[in-house]
Amino acid sequence: VASHLLAYFFKELNHDQVQKVDQYLYHMHLSDETLLEISKRFRKEIEKGLGSTTHPTAAVKMLPTFVRSTSDGTEHGEFLALDLGGTNFLTDNGLRKVEMENQIYAIPEDVMRGSDTELFDHIAEWLANFMDKLQIKDKKLPLGFTFSFPCRQTKLDESFLVSWTKGFKSSGVEGRDVVALIRKAIQRRGDFDIDIVAVVNDTVGTMMTCGHDDHNCEIGLIVGTGSNACHMEEMRHIEMVEGDEGQMCINIEWGAFGDDGLLNDIRTEFDQEIDMGSLNLGKQLFEKVISAMYMGELMRFILVKMAKEELLFRGKLSPELLNTGHFETKDISDTEGEKDGIRKAREVLMRLGMDPTQEDCVATHRICQIVSTHSASLCTATLAPVLQRIKENKGEEQLRSTIGVDGSVYKKHPHFAKRLHKTVWRLLPDCYVCFLRSEDGSGKGAAMVTAVAYRLADQHRA
Ligand code: BGC
Ligand code: MG
Repeated sequence: VASHLLAYFFKELNHDQVQKVDQYLYHMHLSDETLLEISKRFRKEIEKGLGSTTHPTAAVKMLPTFVRSTSDGTEHGEFLALDLGGTNFLTDNGLRKVEMENQIYAIPEDVMRGSDTELFDHIAEWLANFMDKLQIKDKKLPLGFTFSFPCRQTKLDESFLVSWTKGFKSSGVEGRDVVALIRKAIQRRGDFDIDIVAVVNDTVGTMMTCGHDDHNCEIGLIVGTGSNACHMEEMRHIEMVEGDEGQMCINIEWGAFGDDGLLNDIRTEFDQEIDMGSLNLGKQLFEKVISAMYMGELMRFILVKMAKEELLFRGKLSPELLNTGHFETKDISDTEGEKDGIRKAREVLMRLGMDPTQEDCVATHRICQIVSTHSASLCTATLAPVLQRIKENKGEEQLRSTIGVDGSVYKKHPHFAKRLHKTVWRLLPDCYVCFLRSEDGSGKGAAMVTAVAYRLADQHRA
């Protein structure tokens, strides 16, 4: 009887605690009605970004990528791939006929935020080491470069950085062609040469990689350190690029949704705090609400505020919890991933120097769920209009489409993907949407764009 009573007591207590948190964070619960409203706004943003007169001032940039065709599987050759700007690692799995070698490379923080020459000398040095290792320094190989930032492209191998995002802030690069910057850095060394054929965004790389296995794949989605998507658009709707025939992949850059104030009613005080502490104030506001780079910090802000109002931790806070970056996005995944998530929440809090009660742990676990669900819901709200657009472009009653996906939140959070899929299917009952995880990293996609470009050039010559 005693243990029954105790169990009953704990259940009641947990229930009360969950209710308390839900009430406190009620504005982070997004109803389907709200999501559809956000979708409606995003749809207009897509149109604005594509129109020639509205494009210059559009927050969502809809950048042409000059990728016109996905792989048809006949490409072959030797290509190099370089990936900068995410937390991806690359393997050297060969494509069916395309041999590919590539390697993980993490840029140290001081280089990410140093000067342009520092950054590009660093990249060139890494390429040199890599080619040394493979003993291919005497060959001039084609390279596909995954560069996961907004760029204005005029062709495949010319790519002007619009602005840095995420943790990058290297000076003197914004507004410049990153291909030219790499070429110059390689010339400065003078010990090898390389043929930079294509620069692709990671969303495009992901779509290409998945498109190799599923020809219905016409969207690439990243929910990782940052967040973004790309899709195949009809040329006749892309007013900034001449020509009406066929399709071109558009890098949506949805991370900037809301930079013109459109999401002010949805952003919370915590989102504002995140923005204020960021490297790019007032920029990438949608990304800051949903992506891995900011999710742990969002958690921390909520915990701190609730503690200060004496709703948690009996009002006490440890120095760790008061300091930037100590609650990690991975902690959210871990807490929600454990069968006993409340115990896991205790572990995380204790690591942060806290002495939590059972109620504190229940509340922390619940806040994790709210934060990650909020992110998944918002992703759906921007994904839905992209799918609808493809459906209308095709003039089909029902759409069958595949989305290639990558990124740590999508892949590593235990429930994120499932929640995203369910909400997409619920909001778009007339679309059969399939989600395909990209297992090979976006670098493979860059090599594929390079391979496709080579194939097309061959056809032209023939
Ligand atoms: C960048 C995008 C990129 C995304 C995912 C964002 O910060 O602006 O270009 O696709 O992160 O890596
Ligand atoms: Mg990446």
